Amino acid sequence: MNTTLNLANLAPEYIREIAPYQGGKPISELAREMGLDEAEIVKLASNENPLGISPKAQMAIDDAISDIARYPDGNSFALRDAVSQKFKVNTNQIVFGNGSNDILELAARAFLTVGDEAIYSQHAFAVYKLVTQAVGATGVVIPAKNYAHDLDAFAKAITPKTKLIFIANPNNPTGTHIKKDTLRGFIHKVPCHVLILLDEAYDEYLSLEDKSEAISWLSEFPNLIISRTFSKAYGLAGLRVGFGLMHASVADILNRVRQPFNVNSIAQVAAVESLADNDFVARSYAANQAGMAQITQGLTKLGLEYIVSYGNFVSFKVPNASNVNQQLLKKGVIVRPVANYEMPDHLRVSIGLFSENAKFLEMLKEILE
Ligand SMILES: *Cc1c(COP(=O)(O)O)cnc(C)c1O
Repeated sequence: MNTTLNLANLAPEYIREIAPYQGGKPISELAREMGLDEAEIVKLASNENPLGISPKAQMAIDDAISDIARYPDGNSFALRDAVSQKFKVNTNQIVFGNGSNDILELAARAFLTVGDEAIYSQHAFAVYKLVTQAVGATGVVIPAKNYAHDLDAFAKAITPKTKLIFIANPNNPTGTHIKKDTLRGFIHKVPCHVLILLDEAYDEYLSLEDKSEAISWLSEFPNLIISRTFSKAYGLAGLRVGFGLMHASVADILNRVRQPFNVNSIAQVAAVESLADNDFVARSYAANQAGMAQITQGLTKLGLEYIVSYGNFVSFKVPNASNVNQQLLKKGVIVRPVANYEMPDHLRVSIGLFSENAKFLEMLKEILE
């Protein structure tokens, strides 16, 4: 192989400029690197559900395995029916994705081109920038206000070139949340030829009072796209399934650009069962509430500041964050550095099981002593 050859130059400049997504370190990788036993490692780095998945979904997965020689249903008929009933939307208003990241990408691919602008916040979920760059559009980053989306500044940044606005509610990695009235007031101000992608990956972790009502706004705002995922509270991160809810004409366009079999057959059946298992989601919510209290109280005891979070994770400030991260890794605890989110002094920890949270706090204490 000619190693001096660099075919990267064949790609357009806007593609070459993309910085790769930095995910949480896999347990197997840390075990290899540090010579640790996988069973001792605590991974609190990717906002996964520490309770696993719904037992009903597990049974459906076991059943469906025998059928994987067949292509999946490209229209996700049964899952479409389940989502339609649960969220009270028409079946033609739903688009399924290979994770909700797929929905973000489909929206960018379908509606953005070179010269268009997409608006998102500083410290917002990294995928908004990635999908915007991948189609050669221009990302307009709005400085955050106390780590949160500054929607007044968003409104002022809209230009004739603006095609798409990304909002994460709650946001990752900051955990900040926009109240319903504020959000609705903002959406009202956005001209209807500008699409708004409202990413609600963590909605299941919100209290009844804060839970989104945006789905009921869809009939009023045809430019609104709401994305949801099975990766977080439902626990299906490894299966890759999410969906978007939107005006039927927008759904029609996204369905034209998606891969015909983008949601695999196992994911489809697991998602159907997960949606029906309210008990599992309720247990996940309760465990997250308890774990959040455990971790935030522990951080406070250690004298560390954190950003109040509405998700299943919390970002905290620590002196020399990158060094603390390295030391946590050596002790078998994986958290997420967020320097790439312009938060070099923070680390983000996902809420785990009681014992995992306790180990994280204990190791952090040892490091800081
Ligand atoms: C985790 C996360 C997602 C979910 O991604 P999937 O592709 O559905 O796994 C989407 N948005 C935000 C803000 C997230 O943190």
